[in-house]
Amino acid sequence: MNNKNILNKNTENTSSNVINWSIVQTDMKNKLGSDIYESWLRKIKFVEEFNNYVLLSVSTRFIRDWITSRYLDQILQIIKAYKKGISRIELKISEKGEDENSYENSQNQKTKLRNNIENVSFIKDTHLQYNRIDPNKKFENFVIGSSNKLAFEASKKVSENISYYNPLYIYGGVGMGKTHLLNSIGLSLKTQNKVMFISAERFMYQFVKSIKSNDMVKFKEYFRNTDILLIDDIQFMNGKEAMQEEFFHTFNALLDKGSQVIVSADRPPSKLSRIQERIRSRFSGGLVIDIQKPDYELRNKIVQKKIEELNIFYLNQINIPSEVQKFISSEIKTSIRELIGALNRIFSYSRIYNKIPNLSETKIILKDLLNLSENKITIDLIQSIVCKFFKISKNEMLSSRRSRYLVRPRQTAIYLTKILTSKSLPEIGREFSNRDHTTIIHSVKTIEKLSAQDSELQKNIENLKNQILYNKENEIQS
Ligand code: ADP
Ligand code: MG
Repeated sequence: MNNKNILNKNTENTSSNVINWSIVQTDMKNKLGSDIYESWLRKIKFVEEFNNYVLLSVSTRFIRDWITSRYLDQILQIIKAYKKGISRIELKISEKGEDENSYENSQNQKTKLRNNIENVSFIKDTHLQYNRIDPNKKFENFVIGSSNKLAFEASKKVSENISYYNPLYIYGGVGMGKTHLLNSIGLSLKTQNKVMFISAERFMYQFVKSIKSNDMVKFKEYFRNTDILLIDDIQFMNGKEAMQEEFFHTFNALLDKGSQVIVSADRPPSKLSRIQERIRSRFSGGLVIDIQKPDYELRNKIVQKKIEELNIFYLNQINIPSEVQKFISSEIKTSIRELIGALNRIFSYSRIYNKIPNLSETKIILKDLLNLSENKITIDLIQSIVCKFFKISKNEMLSSRRSRYLVRPRQTAIYLTKILTSKSLPEIGREFSNRDHTTIIHSVKTIEKLSAQDSELQKNIENLKNQILYNKENEIQS
């Protein structure tokens, strides 16, 4: 039975061995030194383990930020040594600690403390209560471009004005920012509302688990009591009729009572093949918005923003050269996740080797990502090959000089870029010393026209094209 598989899979994922926190502590002390351990790490409390997460708590925001910026990587490595499956640590601030530091308003504080204790036991009682809302994925650090603007605005609208669009359905490819948006909605609404943020897979798992433990009533109650239901990756919902039935009823009940439902998926509702038609049509009945692939402009904005963030995070100024920034923005285009992954790698490299990579080092560091990118032919490569062919220097090609012996090669390189890459005219213009896109169009047209009349030029272009296509594999290594 399908449901059984789901259950087995998840049981495997959850622990066989439980993390022994005092062993981890000893390791931290040995690896990071007792000074650091005593100053920062000894008081970290283990709260719980959940799937691939470990939830820890510290007493103040300052300690949390300090640990996060300096030691979290190492702590994670230590934990991983005991439990490979853990891929992430979350540090929360235990309000108890804050209470201890504050003497005012003691009545209030007591209530807060009591609530907090209740919350903690809540988490321990059942994972169902555990909302995986990431405090770092908020609206403020979501960078907006033409491909995600509508999705962003709709999400914002929903968080300011519940049930304005209901349900809100956001879809798009992997790593485009769907989870980030759902998370942002959850974050901004959770202070005033009961928010449930869950992946469709998790929903199924809980469903099956509740059936097995005869807890269906609680399950229903829990979901139906939320004000805001955020379901991530609904395309993974592939359960049996009974579960879809339950989901459909929950969904309707929520919409009926005016709760906000937000759904994400990798495809539009009409393409959700494993989901009942009536659920699909309810999805379509709300606002359906897609997030498209980011264009150069957005990628570049994200690169800049992320560099800023990483510099704060690591408490040092790593000045990634603009050449490298531009290269990453123009070459890593399959997803925002990949783009950020590339930057993280550049930062790790800088930290490990104490040196900021230049362009050719960047190409080596990111080699596998570049190979994965849909387009392996870079403007850089085209320019180099064309320059060599016409025996001019790259500076000459990129200069503003208009001598004939430079203009033709320049136009040829622009033309080849247009036909061999998927870059837009403004993107090409940028790579040719910020030329206007009308200049780019003009160059392309000129070469098209001339090569139709001039067989010599046509031959040269064919020759260059072959060289570029042949060279693309070797270029990245060089
Ligand atoms: P998806 O859920 O669509 O697969 P995610 O929301 O997980 O994608 O995004 C992948 C990564 O990219 C996350 O680290 C996320 O914070 C980041 N990200 C995505 N879109 C943006 C954006 N517009 N601005 C800043 N970061 C973004
Ligand atoms: Mg996601």
